[in-house]
Amino acid sequence: MIPEVIVTHIKDASHVVLATHVHPDGDALGSLFGLGNILEGQGKKVFRYLHDPVSHLYDFLPAKSDISSDLDAALQFVEQAANQGGHVVAIALDCGDAERLGTAKDTLLTISPFIVIDHHRGHRDFGDQLWLESSCSSTGEMVYELALVLEAEVSRSAAFCLYVAIVTDTGFFRYESTSPRTLRIAADLVEIGVRPDEVSNKIYDNYTLARLRLMEMVLATLAVVGDGKIGVICVSEDMIARSGANSDDVEGFIDFPRSLQSVQVAVFIKETEKGVISVSLRAKGAVNVAAIAAGFNGGGHINAAGFRFSGKSIEEVKALVLDAVNGALA
Ligand code: 5GP
Ligand code: MN
Repeated sequence: MIPEVIVTHIKDASHVVLATHVHPDGDALGSLFGLGNILEGQGKKVFRYLHDPVSHLYDFLPAKSDISSDLDAALQFVEQAANQGGHVVAIALDCGDAERLGTAKDTLLTISPFIVIDHHRGHRDFGDQLWLESSCSSTGEMVYELALVLEAEVSRSAAFCLYVAIVTDTGFFRYESTSPRTLRIAADLVEIGVRPDEVSNKIYDNYTLARLRLMEMVLATLAVVGDGKIGVICVSEDMIARSGANSDDVEGFIDFPRSLQSVQVAVFIKETEKGVISVSLRAKGAVNVAAIAAGFNGGGHINAAGFRFSGKSIEEVKALVLDAVNGALA
C-alpha cells in the first residue's frame, strides 16, 4: 500500500527531482526513466539526477539525453519551482541507504519533502516519507503500482523502462522475488506494447568482444571452496584494462559461480577502481546474504547483496569474506 501522504505529495507536485543509487543498475535506471516519463506525461517538470553515467549496457534505454549529474542545476531547478510558486518533491528510487546516493546525498536531502521508494530488505531509513515494499521484485514494479494509483497514463516508452527494471532485478522472472503480481504487471506492460524479445535482445545479445574477453579472464579466477558450497570469482583493474572492456562490463558475471550445482553462495570480488573493492553476494539456499553484507556495512536482499572496502587488496578481502560466508553456512 502506498502511503496516502506520498500520493498526495506527488499529485500536488509541479516539479520533481528524481535520483537513484550510485552505479545504477537496470532497476535503478528503468524506474527512474519510467517514472520520469510518467510524471512528464502528467504535465510535471522532472529533473533526472544521476550521480554516475549510464552504463553502456543500458545505452538502449530512452531519456539518456535528459539526465544530469550537475547538483547546482538540480538546486536551480528547485529554486525556479519555488519562484514560480510550484510544489517540489524529490524522490529517491531503489536506494536502500542514503550513502548510496553518493556525494550528492547531503545536497539532495535538503529538498523537502524527500520521498523514498524502495524494495530493499535491509533498507536504512532516510528522507521524509518512505514507501518500502520488500516483497516487491523491483522498484520498477512499485513505480507501476504508483502509476495506477495516480491514474497516470503509462506510455510505451515508460512501459519499456519499467519492464527492463523488472526483468533485470528478477533475472527475467527467475528469482524468488517474482510473484504473481510481478507477472501480471509484466503482462500489462507487454499489453501496452513492450516486446519481451526486444528487451531480451538488448540485454543478452548485445555484448562487445571486449566483454567476452573479460568474462574469459574472470571465469579463469573461479575458486570453489567450503565443500563446494561457495563459488568465488574476482576481477582486477588490470584484467579490465587488458581486455579493453570497462568496469560496467562485469554486470551479470556473478551468475557463473551462482550457476554451479553445488554452490549455495556466490561471491564476486571486484577491483574496478584503484583502492576500492566492491563485493557482490548471491545466495540460492538457506543463507541470508543481506545479513552477511550488513556485517560489512553493506546491504541488499536475502539472495542478493553487496558492500565495499577501501584500502584492502583482493586477496585480503577474499579471506575476510570467505570467513564470513563460511560462518553463515556453518
Ligand atoms: P550488486 O551485487 O548487483 O551490486 O547488488 C546486489 C544488491 O546489493 C543490490 O540490491 C544492491 O542495492 C545491494 N548492494 C550492493 N552494494 C551495496 C553497498 O555497498 N551497500 C548497500 N547498502 N547495498 C549494496
Ligand atoms: Mn532494485
